[in-house]
Amino acid sequence: MKSGRKPLIAANWKMNGLKADGLALANAVVLRAANAGASLGCDVLISPPATLIDAVGAALQGSPVLLGGQDCHDKPSGAYTGDIAAPMLKDLGATHVILGHSERRAYHAESDAVVRAKSEAALAAGLIAIICVGETEAQRDAGETLSVIIGQIDESIPATATPDQVVVAYEPVWAIGTGRTPTLAEIAEVHGEIRSRLAQRLGRGAETRILYGGSVKPSNAVEVLALEDVDGALVGGASLKADDFWAIVVALPG
Ligand code: PEP
Repeated sequence: MKSGRKPLIAANWKMNGLKADGLALANAVVLRAANAGASLGCDVLISPPATLIDAVGAALQGSPVLLGGQDCHDKPSGAYTGDIAAPMLKDLGATHVILGHSERRAYHAESDAVVRAKSEAALAAGLIAIICVGETEAQRDAGETLSVIIGQIDESIPATATPDQVVVAYEPVWAIGTGRTPTLAEIAEVHGEIRSRLAQRLGRGAETRILYGGSVKPSNAVEVLALEDVDGALVGGASLKADDFWAIVVALPG
């Protein structure tokens, strides 16, 4: 644990899994968590697709493994066909919701203002918002990485959020699902900048968890998770295999 921040390893299953697959995967993670027992020194979260939240939530009952959503609407209810409200996630036992993932920003045109409104709705429902930020490859090549991320932090995170309500996930867009990752120095630099900005913006940067996401796998998890300002990982592809996901959980420094 770094400076009192409990690490978080979060699985983002994205749009993957029918009921049988999802339940088998959730049960496999639950079993590994049970075997770890009291030695499990981190939070572990599964964010299944919306169709599986109820069933996976039932599978997680009695386990330390937490349940999350992958998105929510900014209104608590209403005529928004196909959308899911934050209180609905809470009602199913979710504790967290991923917001502003680059796939939502790109494919659903979610602006920072939309991400902030959704985050406010999540906080109002008693959920922890995992707010994703990250630069595209073109932005990195243009030397804009830090300015893009500072802008996303300033515009996406509710100004009144407290460190226990928000987790920031740094996910370079070009690293998601590609097998490519920034260098350790680049990850360290961005996480350090995010922490300073959170300190300025929320007044308590040292207490807020900052995850790295983007092609985290068993082979690179140890070195990424050892970085001082990295408090865990948001894991996509590797979270779809229980062994790979759990290898990332146990890669956290002891
Ligand atoms: C993600 O989508 O949040 C992610 C990090 O994906 P992957 O691990 O597959 O790069």
